[in-house]
Amino acid sequence: MRVIAIDGPAGSGKSTVARALAKHLGLKYLDTGAMYRAVAFAVLRAGGDPDDAESTTATARLVDLDIGLERVMVDGVDATVEIRGPEVSRAVSAVAANPEVRKELVSRQREWAVRQGGGVLEGRDIGTVVFPDAELKVYLTADPEERARRRAKEVTDLDYEQVAADIARRDALDTTRAADPLVEAADATVVDTTGLGIDEVVATITALLDEGASS
Ligand code: C5P
Repeated sequence: MRVIAIDGPAGSGKSTVARALAKHLGLKYLDTGAMYRAVAFAVLRAGGDPDDAESTTATARLVDLDIGLERVMVDGVDATVEIRGPEVSRAVSAVAANPEVRKELVSRQREWAVRQGGGVLEGRDIGTVVFPDAELKVYLTADPEERARRRAKEVTDLDYEQVAADIARRDALDTTRAADPLVEAADATVVDTTGLGIDEVVATITALLDEGASS
């Protein structure tokens, strides 16, 4: 089973790069951040408190998730737009800090990869926790200003300052939480995407795969 792990902070280019890489390699793609966002959406939709560990865990175990390339369905409801909105973005770090939620989603991610016969998975802990034996682990970074600029372009109703503040807040929470914090895997290759286009990053990663195959 061929698994490629793409990790890194918000706005580092993970989603765009992982999608393009999957297409290039003929593999399936999974956005694991969308899964944490989808659970946060389900909690908020049920009127729950994202900081209430017990009910959030119950929601994570029961929720029906369909994470597609174009659409994200949560219990049969199209949540594609809302999972990127400010309410979910505010709630998602608390949900993702819950170890029981992580256990549930990690197990779904592993099942997904087995069902698909491998894939490109993108997130925060793919190379460290979900697939420590991945064929290739890439850790994408970029300057904080560039990351905020990219996100501000994607989310049209937010201005740069709001996006920069949200990214800084989530970086801090994601790197300091007790359960599976965002860290570079010891054997990950760090790729700084500042100033690089998608094609250049995909070419860099493809070259790393070719190096691995010939060594
Ligand atoms: O990738 P994205 O920014 O959409 O992820 C949203 C949030 O989900 C992150 O800020 C992080 O808290 C959480 N996450 C995680 N582990 C993953 C993917 C995302 O904790 N593998």
